[in-house]
Amino acid sequence: MSQSSPKNVPGTAVGYPNSSSVNAPTRQAIALISIEADPDPDAETVEGRISGQRIHVRQIGETLAKLGWQVDIYTRKTDSNLPTIVEHAPHCRTVRLEAGPLTPLSRDQIFDHLPEFIDAFQTFQTKKATIYPLIHTHYWLSGWIGLHLKQENNVLWVHTCHSLATDEYGALAERPAIAQTRLDTEREILTHADRVIVTSPDELCTVQSQAPDCPALLIPGGTDLSTFHRIPQAEARSLLGFDVDIPILLYVGRFDTRKGIDTLLEACQCLSQGEPGGYEPFTQFQVVLVGDDAGTASHEREHLEQEIQALGLSEKVHFAGRIRHSRLPLFYTAADVCVVPSQYEPFGLVALEAMACETPVVASDVGGLKFTVIPEETGLLVPVGDASAFARAIARILGNPQWANTLKTKASSHVQEAFTWTSAGAQVSDLYRRLLAESLMAAPSSNGGSALNGSTARF
Ligand code: UDP
Repeated sequence: MSQSSPKNVPGTAVGYPNSSSVNAPTRQAIALISIEADPDPDAETVEGRISGQRIHVRQIGETLAKLGWQVDIYTRKTDSNLPTIVEHAPHCRTVRLEAGPLTPLSRDQIFDHLPEFIDAFQTFQTKKATIYPLIHTHYWLSGWIGLHLKQENNVLWVHTCHSLATDEYGALAERPAIAQTRLDTEREILTHADRVIVTSPDELCTVQSQAPDCPALLIPGGTDLSTFHRIPQAEARSLLGFDVDIPILLYVGRFDTRKGIDTLLEACQCLSQGEPGGYEPFTQFQVVLVGDDAGTASHEREHLEQEIQALGLSEKVHFAGRIRHSRLPLFYTAADVCVVPSQYEPFGLVALEAMACETPVVASDVGGLKFTVIPEETGLLVPVGDASAFARAIARILGNPQWANTLKTKASSHVQEAFTWTSAGAQVSDLYRRLLAESLMAAPSSNGGSALNGSTARF
């Protein structure tokens, strides 16, 4: 890999002048790297995939900026119409670097362009005369970049996993071609990063079993409570054009086999039939699937359409398409139950967003969902892939409106208490300050041996 070296940068200036006052202290600049998940809200309408990582990186970045950092989030440019630099919140900007074709690529394809991305990142730093004393990478592809930047620049390096191959591949029938590369890279990341952030206790266990000495810490993701809160249900339903009186089951997320949408559909068939000795058949309900572009001929969408027909659910299931994040509260509020049937879920923002909107969740008993959903209090957890158990859980909530109301109240208070971006961002900010302080204390007085490389850190 050919890389320009930031050691040649003159002045090693860190921080940006605060435009509001010439005398105001400058902010400490830090770089977040999220190569395959562009956090800019405007990219949501252009790119093919809305993932939890995009939302997570945006929210953490914007919260850190509110807490006093200058946040630059680096991602890969996927469309020539998207600006190279966009400030989507005060002191928080997304910087798009060219690495490979200006089109969306699969994660496997992006791997081949990581060296180009590193070159572009180094060149950008040189041009702007900015060296970041700390970088924070997200997901293993950016972690690969972190490994190289750590080696070349002696930068402080924080990594957030977002998912781990050992867990994710366990839920897949067939491993992708890149599997071994990812497994090897993740092992290296867990060994060499200065800190590794995991978002659930399950993920922490996986990290500790893979790399017992890994400096891992748990900082859960959150929810934006100013966006995700309840509005009157009848209002939400009529705004969305849904029948006000028919119960709604909602799925939100990517159309991907590991999201388990099949299980939800099979559960719907069970609900229609009822359970002898259990619940009566539910003849009236709607299923709303949010998350794939209406009309897009994706493989998973085609598969689901066939299954819907085979199960006789065509009248009940509605594909809502991909919905802009800020519009989702309408859908969560319109629903009676949000179903999260994932086979694997490292954290699961959807469950939190639903609960913040006072919608009970019926979720698979896996990963982050075990951590965020409190069974019998904010929703129900059921065994992965068990369609009858999902149907039974949904029937319990639909069949008992009084209990459902208790779940709703507890669900939103649980999210407010434990899962906000303000809390997550504050923990990340504290971590950065600690690492920068430790680095300063460890630095020999003049030769720039610390990550700060002789520059003045501002924190
Ligand atoms: N999402 C969205 N619009 C859609 C579908 C999903 O904004 O049409 C968002 C959703 O609100 C959530 C994220 O995508 O914030 C999915 O995150 P989650 O952690 O549940 O799943 P992941 O994509 O990380 O597997």
